[in-house]
Amino acid sequence: MNKQDIKKKYNKEKKLLQKYNHHYFNLDSPLVPDSTYDQIKNQLIKLEKEFPYLKVKESIQDQVGAPVLKKFKKIKHSKPMLSLSNTFNADGIEDFISKISNYLNIKNKNFDFSSELKIDGISASLTYENGILIKGLSRGDGIIGEDILENLKTIRQIPRKISDINLPKLLEIRGEVYLGKTDFKKLNKTFANPRNAAGGSLRQKDPKETKKIPLKFFAYGFGIINPMIYKTQSEFISKLKKWGFSVNPHNILVNGLKEIENHHKNIESLRSSLDYDIDGIVFKINDLSLQKRLGNTSNSPRWATAYKFSSVKATSVIKDIVIQVGRTGAITPVAKIEPVTVGGVVVSNATLHNEDEINRKDVRVGDTIIVQRAGDVIPQVVSVNFDKRKRNSKKFIFPNKCLCGSKIQKEFNLSTKKEDAVRRCTKGYDCSFIAKERLKHIVSKEAFNIDGLGKKVIDQFWKLNLIKNPSDIFELDFNRIKKLDGWGELSVKNLKLAIEQAKNISLNRFIYSIGIRHIGQENAKILASFFKSISQFSNILKKNNRDELLENLNDLNGIGETQIFSLKNFFNKKKNIDIVQKLITKLKIQDFKEMNIKGKLSNTNVMFTGGFEKISRSEAKTLTENLGGKVLGSVSKKLNILVVGNSKPTKKKIDKAKELKIKIYSENEWYKFLNI
Ligand code: NAD
Repeated sequence: MNKQDIKKKYNKEKKLLQKYNHHYFNLDSPLVPDSTYDQIKNQLIKLEKEFPYLKVKESIQDQVGAPVLKKFKKIKHSKPMLSLSNTFNADGIEDFISKISNYLNIKNKNFDFSSELKIDGISASLTYENGILIKGLSRGDGIIGEDILENLKTIRQIPRKISDINLPKLLEIRGEVYLGKTDFKKLNKTFANPRNAAGGSLRQKDPKETKKIPLKFFAYGFGIINPMIYKTQSEFISKLKKWGFSVNPHNILVNGLKEIENHHKNIESLRSSLDYDIDGIVFKINDLSLQKRLGNTSNSPRWATAYKFSSVKATSVIKDIVIQVGRTGAITPVAKIEPVTVGGVVVSNATLHNEDEINRKDVRVGDTIIVQRAGDVIPQVVSVNFDKRKRNSKKFIFPNKCLCGSKIQKEFNLSTKKEDAVRRCTKGYDCSFIAKERLKHIVSKEAFNIDGLGKKVIDQFWKLNLIKNPSDIFELDFNRIKKLDGWGELSVKNLKLAIEQAKNISLNRFIYSIGIRHIGQENAKILASFFKSISQFSNILKKNNRDELLENLNDLNGIGETQIFSLKNFFNKKKNIDIVQKLITKLKIQDFKEMNIKGKLSNTNVMFTGGFEKISRSEAKTLTENLGGKVLGSVSKKLNILVVGNSKPTKKKIDKAKELKIKIYSENEWYKFLNI
């Protein structure tokens, strides 16, 4: 890349980061997971280091929060409200201590640190003059905050008045406004996590709105104090308690790396049992004279750092193990865990994949486990901490029945010639759990893509008997819906429109939407290119033609024994045929049109394995196709590029691709290759 290209890329990503900041800090509605945000930010910092000419005005590293919104009065902070440097591992802490000892030129590294839980909320500054609360600000961009005094006054844990002998005349107290997990659960607004909910309610224009949400406050620091009479952070914290502030009960003093590491581990293991979100522990030099000597960098104090918990993994406890039935009848065990926020999203369910996985990991109810959530991938239980297992814990016995009551079985896999790991219910539409999941599949983005008819709405409409079969989607009783809680004229109008638009569907999307096992988007396209029109496809519904037709499919590239068996299985059931036929009568299904896009990936076959950080699989697929490429489902000589995502890529696929000397790209190399 030449200088101009680098600058262009840098500016583009910087703009993106500013957009993310605005959504995260001002709108309390993040657009991407924290891990994605951190990755982009780190890349930009790396670019700035490599090409110093990029830092025209302000470095990415110097930025704190986001510029404040117009709806509040802007007030300059008496002392900047900075961010915190952070680390995710013990090496980072060691480095932090070394830097302090070098800066102070103190060889002995035995510093006392005030260790405080890092509450994941919204910081606020409270100014008391002669003990009376006179000013309340948000952090804003660190220099200018928003005047949110009236909103802060609605929080019970913020005293309006404090008194003490020798109380400094001017006293600025800083702390975190947060929403408890239990209170968050009671909110029916759709915030991703308690932090977003706290931010959203704290920055309401009308304090009466703020008052409706039971926000809380932990005090942990100070800005300006005049006269300054305190010697240590721990002394100041005990004063906070005395003045009536709520102070976190887990704050302690620690000394040295080992104690820091132990404390971090302890807190991490009790994190999910706390009624508020924390995303790490803050370690602050306890001696305030040393804090003063150390001062700040442009965006954070040198005397403190946040030892964060991983943004993709967290510790929690399994409360229960239940089973879920998928649209193909697959029975998936799911762990119900103590809610824990991972990378900005509250996780309370984590998949255990299948019976073999449960046995292999020996996962039990009551176990302390590590849960992982990376990018878009479903949260999963990674491992069990056996040291914490209770003596009376019992092995999990996998159920032998579906939730509908019928027997579940493992199928023989024709391609691997082995028994499947997954147990399945084979009742199809006769199992109400499968039927409901099929409806969710039908309305999904890749199928009918009906805006306003998501999974939750399907659940609601199912319960109310508004939708039981796919064709019911196109015969909805909107007058009834209008009267339901949460539905109004506008949302009903939008839903009506979305359903009307969805009636016009391409043949390949239609075939995919039916939800036949082993007929994913790619195979649906192959079938559509063979059948060309819905009238041709409908021949498969007729008993007489079916077997011969299915035989012919054998010649299609990509369609094998497995798919043909599955199609046969599906269309052998009268109920399925009736459902598909009825659905067809409601739709305008367009003939298949071969797409011939010329682009960077023309004549290129691409395959993806593993979850991506920045985009979803569907987006990656659309991206490839828009550039003229084709996405394949298996590694063969025909494959040109294998893109390997970070989360759980299949080793077998990578090994095979290596063997066949196929080009392999990581997610980032892939973007680089596409120049995006
Ligand atoms: P931060 O939240 O990681 O740390 C600084 C904050 O910690 C302080 O402002 C204070 O509010 C808080 N804090 C809690 N307890 C404290 C204590 N005891 N002592 C001192 N401070 C305490 O830093 P930040 O600059 O506010 O935000 C950066 C974080 O936000 C990153 O984790 C980033 O991933 C995330 N972020 C995400 C997005 C997104 O789109 N997902 C966008 C922007 C930022």
